[in-house]
Amino acid sequence: MESRIFELTQLDAKTLPERALKLAEEAGEVAQAVLSATGASGSAYKGLNLADVREEAADTAIVALSILAQTCEDEAMFKAELNRLLSEKCGKWEAVLKRQA
Ligand SMILES: [Mg+2]
Repeated sequence: MESRIFELTQLDAKTLPERALKLAEEAGEVAQAVLSATGASGSAYKGLNLADVREEAADTAIVALSILAQTCEDEAMFKAELNRLLSEKCGKWEAVLKRQA
């Protein structure tokens, strides 16, 4: 899947700022879906559900990964950076959780 995202990023002419704005748009769609799916006041009428939340979360993840891809020189660097950063960030998250336990 990483290769597909890297290839699609190369084929898509969006600039880095455009991708960053797209990420903000998709994050907003996640928020909208969560508000509706959880019955938040003023948002429930939109009729969105957890399947919509999952779909918007996937959109958000894809755009975030395309930003990562666009900032890498080639596919090998993209895969290496993706693995390095996810490992590092998950390690930090895990450490925070351990401190809270
Ligand atoms: Mg979306």
